[in-house]
Order: sequence, then C-alpha cells, then structure tokens
Amino acid sequence: MTLPRSVKYAIIGAGVHGLSTALHLAQMLKKGGRGSGADILVVDKGSIGAGASGIACGVVRNNYYQPAMRELMAHSVEVWESDPKAYSYHPVGYMQISPEVMHEQVGTIHEQQKAIGYESVFIEGAADCQKYMTGLFDDWQAKGITSVLHEKKGGYANNTASLYGLANKAEAEGVRILSGVEVTDFEFGSNSGAVTALVTNRGRVACDHVVIGAGPWVIKLWDMLELPKAITIKGRDGKVHENVPMWKFWCLEEGTLGVDPEMHKTNDGRMPPVIHVDTDAPLYSDVDGSLITDKLWGLYYKPDFNFGGIQGGASPYKVDQDPDKVAIDPYGPDSPDFIVGDDFIHMWCSMLAHCQKRFEGKISLYKHKERSGGLGCFTPDNFPVFDTFRENVYVIADSNHGYKMIGVGKLVAQELMGEKSKLLEPFRFGRFAKGELHPTSHSPFPWS
Ligand SMILES: Cc1cc2nc3c(=O)[nH]c(=O)nc-3n(C[C@H](O)[C@H](O)[C@H](O)COP(=O)(O)OP(=O)(O)OC[C@H]3O[C@@H](n4cnc5c(N)ncnc54)[C@H](O)[C@@H]3O)c2cc1C
Repeated sequence: MTLPRSVKYAIIGAGVHGLSTALHLAQMLKKGGRGSGADILVVDKGSIGAGASGIACGVVRNNYYQPAMRELMAHSVEVWESDPKAYSYHPVGYMQISPEVMHEQVGTIHEQQKAIGYESVFIEGAADCQKYMTGLFDDWQAKGITSVLHEKKGGYANNTASLYGLANKAEAEGVRILSGVEVTDFEFGSNSGAVTALVTNRGRVACDHVVIGAGPWVIKLWDMLELPKAITIKGRDGKVHENVPMWKFWCLEEGTLGVDPEMHKTNDGRMPPVIHVDTDAPLYSDVDGSLITDKLWGLYYKPDFNFGGIQGGASPYKVDQDPDKVAIDPYGPDSPDFIVGDDFIHMWCSMLAHCQKRFEGKISLYKHKERSGGLGCFTPDNFPVFDTFRENVYVIADSNHGYKMIGVGKLVAQELMGEKSKLLEPFRFGRFAKGELHPTSHSPFPWS
C-alpha cells in the first residue's frame, strides 16, 4: 500500500490505543455522516503489536485505588465484553489478595465498585481469607493475607489476537494500516502551532488531526512536538515542585512456567481468575530455603494456553538512567538490556510456590527460551495523560496502565468528534500544575 499524500486523521502507533481509536472513530464518522474509515491512516514503524500491547500479559482488572481509574476501567471492561471473540477476551475474573497494610484501601475499592455497579466480593480477616482461597484452590498457602477482593468481571485477553481483532474491524470500516512507516518529525503551521504534516521514512503525509499512541516511544514523539522535558507540579500537599522530568522508564518483569496450564484449575475444574497477591510475609527460596526478601512483595499469574504455561510477573523496577538515553529499541524480548534474568526467575517461581503448593519444585520447568519483559514509559505521577497539544495533536500516554484500557480509544474518538469525555477529564496534562493529582496506594506496584 502506498503512503497517501494527505489524510484527515493520522494515527501513530498500531497498539491497543491507536487501533481502538481508529476503529471507534471510523464507526462514529460513519454514524454521524461525517466521513468514514477511509479518512483514517494508522502508521507503525514496526507492525501491528510491535510495542507494549503485543507483549502485555493481558490482565484486565478494575482494582485501582483511584476512583477515576476505576471508572475508566469499568468502561473498558464493557468494550472487552462487547466482542469477546474478536478481542480474544477471557472473562475469568480477577483477585487482589492483600496483607493488612493494604486492607483498608482495598476495602474502599470494594465500596466504590459497589457504587459503580462493578460486581466484586470482599473477604476480610486471615481465617476467612484462607477459607475462601482454599475453597477455590485446595493447595492455597500464601501467608500474611488479611483481605481478598474477588472481582467477578475482568480477566485477561490474548495480546496479539486482540490487536488483530481490533485491526480487522478497523480495516473492515475502511481504515488503512501501514507497517514500516516511521514518523521522524512533524511540520508545523506558520501561523499556528498545529501539526500540518507527518514527516516519515517513506515521505510526507499532510493531515488535519494527529493521534499519538506510541506506548514507550511517547518520549520521542513528545520531543518532536517540542513539548517540555521537565514540568512544574503542585503536590497533593500544596508544595510546588519545579523541574520534574516529564518521563521516566520502568522495566516490567514477566515470565512463563512451562507446566500444563490445566494444572491451575479451581477445585471444581474451572479456569481460575487472574491471581494477584501482595504480601509482607517473608519470601523464601523454593530452591534452597534462603530468604529472598522480608519487604512487601507482589506477583500476578494466570494459566495461559497462548504462552503455554502459567504466565505472570512481579513488581517492575525503575530504570536508573537518563530517560533520553534509555535504549527503547530493540524492544521487548529483542532487547539485550530489558529482559528478565535468573534473579527474577528464582524470585517469581519462589513466589508461585509460596502461594500454591502445586508450584513447589517446578523452577526447572521455567521457559527460559521465551524471553519476556519490557519497558514502560511513565508520567511524573504514574497515571495517564490523555490530552490535546498544539491544537490538533491528541496524545494517549497511558503510563503503562493500558492494554486493559481498550475503551480509551473509544472515548478519544468521541472527543475527536467534538464531545468532551467526563471519564478522560481527570487525566489532562493541566492536573500537574493545578495539583489535581490522583491519590496513591500502599501497593508495591507503580500502577495500582
Ligand atoms: C511486559 C509488559 C506487560 C504488560 N502487561 C499488561 C497487562 O497485563 N495489562 C495491562 O493493562 N497493561 C499491561 N502492560 C501495559 C500495556 O502493554 C501498555 O500500557 C499498552 O499496551 C500501551 O499501548 P499503546 O497503544 O500506547 O502502545 P504500544 O502497544 O507500545 O504501541 C505503540 C506502537 O507505536 C509504534 N511507534 C512508536 N514510535 C513510532 C514512530 N515514531 N512512528 C511510527 N510508529 C511508532 C510502535 O512500533 C508500536 O507498535 C504491560 C506492559 C509490558 C511492557
């Protein structure tokens, strides 16, 4: 397919956000009699799923301490549920299993889930939690647990399959998706700051509107837009912090234990919910019994036929480098720097064994050949920025929360059609200067 010389809507990135925006925008243009998918071009320097969306574990959950995130996730779950087959979505539910230090905060999540009609069960107290968990898995043995939030909705989806589901639907609406087209710069209007064209490795494309869904590469597109590298933030305490770097990187660590995924069914033979455990109980090695950590730790896992085993991860680590110098490419499993090593494998397999007896002594089955993990680019408060810059550039910077947020593209499309979204309002860039920051939780993960 040749590169068009001009297009009304140019979308950069064929990940979950770019593709979801393209699909929903095409549908809305057609419905409103204002155009069609033929007005939309998606370009990707790699291909569909070449970024974070294509390697995501695929967990879809509502469990967030921030009310605005919960409402947004509930909206996204509706989108997943609208076509589970095309999106390869498995609505098995999700469990947040927590220690006492998180008990109260998770309790408020449950209360607010009730308020928005998102079905969940909340179990409190060590004995009742143990009873609930052994009712599901007779070998449950995690220690230090005093609350269990069992979300009945959510679950997980298969990463690339869902992206092709989105892409097929978008192409059926007339959207063009071009691989191997890298945006290297923008042209700006002479009388305004608006972008008038994309400059790419395959030529120039004039455009009226730009949407950026570039995942971890957002930092590069942000620079091309000449947006600030450092910003001023009014903290929740009212203090003003100057010169805070706009972007930072964390490395996500994930892996697969190469056992039969069927071995992790519930007592009654069903596919289990996605399990997320945080605990402050000491973690001992499943290999030699040595202490791995006595600090708060967490893991998540699910049986996954796509990955071929029990797939999941643990808390990510901060990349301690100048964000401008972090090597994002080659990305994901192809990166020589940002993939998991033996320490992660030892720790994660020991975590699995800590939680369920069936995983004891299984470390030798870890799938070493399947390299996993990858970078995420985070905002200063670790929450998304969904906003318009330079008059006609919509930036979707999800701060790595985002595979589950398939519904964001639908809301962005709505905004491109001229209708403001209440759900996106708490994620504007202006919140940093105004001090309208999201509350933070006690979770060891930066995105809870
Ligand atoms: C290991 C890992 C596990 C994760 N697990 C989960 C999970 O279980 N649940 C969850 O909700 N989230 C998860 N995430 C986070 C989630 O994957 C991301 O937040 C989300 O996929 C980002 O989507 P995106 O569309 O913004 O970007 P991406 O999927 O990264 O897509 C961006 C695309 O833009 C293209 N691109 C970049 N620069 C240019 C350019 N200059 N020109 C043209 N194209 C360009 C890239 O090639 C890429 O294909 C995980 C992330 C990682 C790394």
